[in-house]
Amino acid sequence: MIIVLKPNTKEERRKQLIDWLKGMNLGVHISDGQFQTVLGLIGDTSKVDMDLLASLDIVDTVKRVSETFKCVNRKFHPDDTVIDVNGVKIGGGNFALIAGPCSVESEDQIVTVAKAVKEAGANLFRGGAFKPRTSPYDFQGLGAEGIRLLKIAREETGLPIVTEIMNIADLPLFEDVDVLQVGARNTQNYDLLKELGNLNKPILLKRGLAGTLKELLMSAEYIMSNGNEQVILCERGIRTYSDYMRNTLDLSAVPMLQELSHLPVIVDPSHATGIARMVPPMAMAAAASGADGIMIEVHNDPIHALCDGAQSLTPDEYAKLTKKIKAIREAIA
Ligand code: PEP
Ligand code: MN
Repeated sequence: MIIVLKPNTKEERRKQLIDWLKGMNLGVHISDGQFQTVLGLIGDTSKVDMDLLASLDIVDTVKRVSETFKCVNRKFHPDDTVIDVNGVKIGGGNFALIAGPCSVESEDQIVTVAKAVKEAGANLFRGGAFKPRTSPYDFQGLGAEGIRLLKIAREETGLPIVTEIMNIADLPLFEDVDVLQVGARNTQNYDLLKELGNLNKPILLKRGLAGTLKELLMSAEYIMSNGNEQVILCERGIRTYSDYMRNTLDLSAVPMLQELSHLPVIVDPSHATGIARMVPPMAMAAAASGADGIMIEVHNDPIHALCDGAQSLTPDEYAKLTKKIKAIREAIA
């Protein structure tokens, strides 16, 4: 249920209402927009008397929210959420250009790529330290050492760092990481999501391998309902019948998620296609779809990459692409 308050409602009256609602064992999510305040009620609202609420002189409207996702719901929070990653804003018209290699391999590699993508216009740097690989015989990432090297790349470039967490036991290692990524294989790891909900840190949440949009939103709800409101949704392709691509990039997810939710929505065309030459056209399409950001794998030496070389752009290719992305953003503005 949502309660829209009348403009200029006095703080004291508003507090009285919120205390009364909380007294009924309901959670109250407050969204102070530019023009209106929306109170989102979480919990069993079946006993709440809607007519009584609607009759209060400070209440404009009362509506039931039928969707199972509440905190994530745009009805709870009509304005776009803007996430601030140490000064880099994402959402509400602010665009994230996240780039970097699939995995951190060495200091030289990570610093080289970080400098190159920054030069090309990236505003956040990615790199996997803990890698969820399909085969246990493949490179599993440098782990804690990888995070240490990412921090060096951040020092060298000033770019905030994004890296994947797979296991909650590793959380202390991520204390100084700017954005924690939840990969497609962990989108429904609810224990992990609940723990991340206790943090005060942006979470980049990927769509599951064959996840529906509702499942993605419910996963975000796990994080948000525990108190962490800084969630970035990421469309990274889903498994369908595609034979030549790694996955199928579902770009219609972008406007639909933006309609259903106030959270920023970014696109990862690298994992969606799995083929470097397919990344630029799909990245441009993602920009045209109105995404709030694009995350792309970039490697200084893709042929020798320890992970996902086939889908990695070189820094030069990335620099050409960011120019086109900017032009598309201007064209649709
Ligand atoms: C990644 O971004 O490195 C990654 C493993 O992606 P996904 O979880 O989407 O497969
Ligand atoms: Mn990868």
